[in-house]
Amino acid sequence: MKYVTITGGVLSGIGKGITAASIGSALQSQELSVDVLKIDPYLNVDAGTMNPNQHGEVFVTQDGYEADLDLGHYERFLHKNMTRFNNLTAGQVYSNVLKKERNGEYLGDTVQMIPHVTLEIKHRLSELKGDIAIVEIGGTVGDIESEIFLEAIREFSMDVGHSNFLFVHVTYVPYLRVTNEFKTKPTQQSIQLLRRSGIIPDIIVLRGEKKLPQNTIDKVALFGGVSPKAVFGLEDSENVYSIPEKIHTLGMDKFVMDKVGLKPLSSFSWNYPKPEKDAKIAMIGKYLSTDDAYKSVLESVALCGYKKPKMIDSESLENLPDGELNEILKNYSGIIIPGGFGKRGIEGMIRAIKYAREHDVPLLGLCLGMQLMTIEYARNVAGLKGANSTEFDPNTPYPIVDMMEEQKRILNFGGTMRLGSEEIRVFEWSNLYKIYSTGSISERHRHRYEVNVNAFKDIFRTKESEPSDRLNVAAVSEFVEAVELPEKRFYIGVQYHPEYVSKVSKPHPIFSKFLETCTNDK
Ligand code: GLN
Repeated sequence: MKYVTITGGVLSGIGKGITAASIGSALQSQELSVDVLKIDPYLNVDAGTMNPNQHGEVFVTQDGYEADLDLGHYERFLHKNMTRFNNLTAGQVYSNVLKKERNGEYLGDTVQMIPHVTLEIKHRLSELKGDIAIVEIGGTVGDIESEIFLEAIREFSMDVGHSNFLFVHVTYVPYLRVTNEFKTKPTQQSIQLLRRSGIIPDIIVLRGEKKLPQNTIDKVALFGGVSPKAVFGLEDSENVYSIPEKIHTLGMDKFVMDKVGLKPLSSFSWNYPKPEKDAKIAMIGKYLSTDDAYKSVLESVALCGYKKPKMIDSESLENLPDGELNEILKNYSGIIIPGGFGKRGIEGMIRAIKYAREHDVPLLGLCLGMQLMTIEYARNVAGLKGANSTEFDPNTPYPIVDMMEEQKRILNFGGTMRLGSEEIRVFEWSNLYKIYSTGSISERHRHRYEVNVNAFKDIFRTKESEPSDRLNVAAVSEFVEAVELPEKRFYIGVQYHPEYVSKVSKPHPIFSKFLETCTNDK
């Protein structure tokens, strides 16, 4: 078993995750089986309790684990479903160590960072399987939280032998416009920090705004103590899916394989989408501080070959006069209402749904989006004034969306929602069935509330037979899984998250069909 460790320097958000996933997919294309461990040095046990505005989306795996969004990159680039074993947080490490201490497993010992915490981390590293594992350490070298992980990895590389190990350090090289030069000092200092942890990089990847000149590469090589051949420049790219190809062209995959003693094949194949078509989509969201908050939705669109949707702040739509709202929305050929939590911005989304229904604009509702489609229908078609979800109005006269019974008994947060893949039945009459070409599917969930279909029987059509002029339930499990107005061009809301399963060359068919409908004229 071989290991490629990826650390980051200078600052976060420079695409370490994409670089790591791309190295993984370049290696996979050499017919190697690639395993992944994303290490997150934060103290949260998982990413489920973090705000998407600060940390980006929570990615849900098939087995119901709430992960960091990087696991989504790995799924998309490696065409492989991740599980909870592909992510390790400091929160998990420390809580395991403390649990063991209380169970008396260290009886007699003074429990310490070394060896007890490092052993716990090394144990997880030793469980990785396949020909080669990508181990990505989140955060930036020098962060106090990540030190213990670097130490554990250093020890682990000694245990398995350095010849099976390769260290990649990804840093940022800022460009100074005034003097027209790239500055390598932050990179030099970050390599020094890494060396202080006992790790000497084998490869240095330099991220930069534009192509880095050879003298910059040479300078980093000199200060970093590696050959210039081990320094790879990766400039910003319009299309992240081109990076595996770039890595291959630069010879980084061959360099990695040579170092760990694997034989490269001559052929390399990587087909990736080019998001060039414009379907003029508006996404009405509430987490707008970073595009990462809706990462999987945006990538699902890109993987179908379409440009990024325009993000519209749902709160900004709330108090607009109808005319102005229509003026804004008429510029778009399709609307996406993504998932979310809490009351803020909800009414703006409901107004956008009403607009889409009345103007027959293709509409895709994801999780929260589907719940709001039922609320909008209850209020504006069935005449149930004040209909709402008890999440936003606990005293609503018509709780058309309400907390799932099993959820009412759960009192703590963190991994307690309805999570992960579950079997779903899709009714044959529905457009959804046409999209899947099958009636039995499995999709990933992350929610606490459900459509309260039994209490509002007369506004829904729940029968399997044929659709009616009510809001049609198109798919079910124990819960309502999809609603639809089949006479519309595309009016589908799903309780689950199709965005989590899109892969390179295999976007989720709901997205392809939605985007195709948006680009077809009425
Ligand atoms: N807030 C809603 C719920 O908990 C929707 C969740 C979501 O969109 N992921 O059911």
